[in-house]
Amino acid sequence: MPGPPRNLHLTVDEAAFVSSQESATRLPMRLTSTVAQLMQAAGDASNGQVPHNDPLRLQFIPRAAELVVRPEERADPLGESEHSPYPRLVHRYPDRILILVTDKCAVHCRYCFRTRFTGTAAGVISDGEIDDICGYLRSHPEIREIILSGGDGLMLSPRELDAVLSRTRAALRCTFRIATRVPVVEPGLMDARIPCLARFRPLWIVLQVNHVNELGPAACEAIEALLSAGISVVSQTVLLRGVNDDAGVLAALFVRLVELGVKPYYLFQMDLAQGTSHFRVDLNRALGIVTELRGRVSGLAMPVFAVDIPGGHGKVRLEESALAERHDHGYLIRAADGSLHEYPRGDL
Ligand SMILES: *Cc1c(COP(=O)(O)O)cnc(C)c1O
Repeated sequence: MPGPPRNLHLTVDEAAFVSSQESATRLPMRLTSTVAQLMQAAGDASNGQVPHNDPLRLQFIPRAAELVVRPEERADPLGESEHSPYPRLVHRYPDRILILVTDKCAVHCRYCFRTRFTGTAAGVISDGEIDDICGYLRSHPEIREIILSGGDGLMLSPRELDAVLSRTRAALRCTFRIATRVPVVEPGLMDARIPCLARFRPLWIVLQVNHVNELGPAACEAIEALLSAGISVVSQTVLLRGVNDDAGVLAALFVRLVELGVKPYYLFQMDLAQGTSHFRVDLNRALGIVTELRGRVSGLAMPVFAVDIPGGHGKVRLEESALAERHDHGYLIRAADGSLHEYPRGDL
């Protein structure tokens, strides 16, 4: 594991915790110089001007709060291990599978829900493991989509990426989806990978981005390069207390993504991962934020608000009921501003 980037300046308190025994037991600190640079842009730690609420510091610098593990939090909050026919394969929904192609990420998000795998010694998927998954694909022709995750799918070298994409495509022709933070946090890796990705269309990049501050000039160039290569890009965002739990902050992010040509796909209520309660937004408040957001941004900029039900019950969309009431003649629909409007019944 490489050391922290040279341009990262920690405060005395941050440095003390990062080097402490306790912090070493959990997910180690990991971030890139691109991220450190975006943090510097928000304040300069060397002269004590670090804004402690900086959305990037909150996401990537370990804090004592993450040592608090609440009883409802779980090591495998999505119950993925119960849907794993092979160790690196998660098959929860009939027509799509998820492959954990590497445990490596360019950055360690402090709210990671897959610490049972991320940053462990698992390494890159082996030839034998790809063989097993190809066999599984051949016996499950109902699968239409293959999601590469991990870890981060784009931490594979171009050669490793080519092996996974070409061999699984030969086994069963599917659409690929790659869940990644690399274009934003380590955009320098993209030039070498885009030609490979372009050979395996249809291929969708699902970019994790949580705050507009993450979209620096290099990230915007990497997104543009993906789109120019014919690769589709959507985004997913995790609702995080202190980082983006505000309709205005989310609106700025989603409007910017649409300007860049990226469709905001999911906004997630946080999973019950261990040591993440300081990031959790109360669900009722979250629904209020989402309702306010819907009143502010276009449909194109509006992601689906969803949660993975703890214990492996899958993803569900969460919406404050738009149908406020049902009466003899029809319905009352709630507009974004809270006002109620008639809509007639259709079954008379
Ligand atoms: C989220 C997820 C998917 C993809 O779900 P979509 O709703 O299609 O985005 C597929 N498999 C697993 C295991 C997942 O957690």
